Amino acid sequence: MNLIIFGPPGAGKGTQADKIVTEFNLNKISTGDLLRDEISKNTTLGKEIKKIIDKGSFVTDETINNLIKKIFSNNENHNRLIFDGYPRNLNQTKNLDHLLKKNKQSLTCVLSLNVPEDVVVKRILGRQVCTKCSLIFNKFFNPSNKKNHNCGEQFLTTRSDDKEEVIIKRYKTYIIETLPILNFYKNLDLLYEIDGIKDIDSIYKEIRQILHSLDG
Ligand code: AMP
Repeated sequence: MNLIIFGPPGAGKGTQADKIVTEFNLNKISTGDLLRDEISKNTTLGKEIKKIIDKGSFVTDETINNLIKKIFSNNENHNRLIFDGYPRNLNQTKNLDHLLKKNKQSLTCVLSLNVPEDVVVKRILGRQVCTKCSLIFNKFFNPSNKKNHNCGEQFLTTRSDDKEEVIIKRYKTYIIETLPILNFYKNLDLLYEIDGIKDIDSIYKEIRQILHSLDG
């Protein structure tokens, strides 16, 4: 199965994707995480990427398409992909379509999490990511504790682009550049819209029902 988890920044895509990965044995491809990996290597490309991300703008399609090409060249990923944060515009959507066809694969569905702007802002302002295990928490809605997280508080960080003015820019860019993609997938009958305001477990319950029904 190959999936896309879709929604505005802060919709909870990463959190839900982590749950799907565990149950359905998929590989999560978060272009944001891949870009942050490049930044952490402190390469010339990484430094350029950091400037763009911290402004809340999009990295070039060329950079993203190169990252995704590498994903398809790895056999481990064959029919086991869940994309989080990709594709983000129509050009990337067409590139993904091309790569899937070229590699004789297809998309199982696109899960779209609907969340309004005010909720997104609140969620992102509370977001914390563990630098050791990469799990995502929220200091208001889903705090890290001894039951759900083994690494310890000292590994929790906030992202440099999770500032209010950058979040608002990212949300506006999402509406203009990313939202139009939904029509592309709706026309292909691949789109499943989910209310992303509910709590984490209720959302996941709905997602797993959809995936089990499609998995046969
Ligand atoms: P994310 O972790 O998905 O919220 O992504 C963080 C930032 O990385 C975004 O605000 C963009 O600057 C950049 N980024 C991630 N994925 C993409 C993509 N598919 N296309 C362009 N820029 C991206």
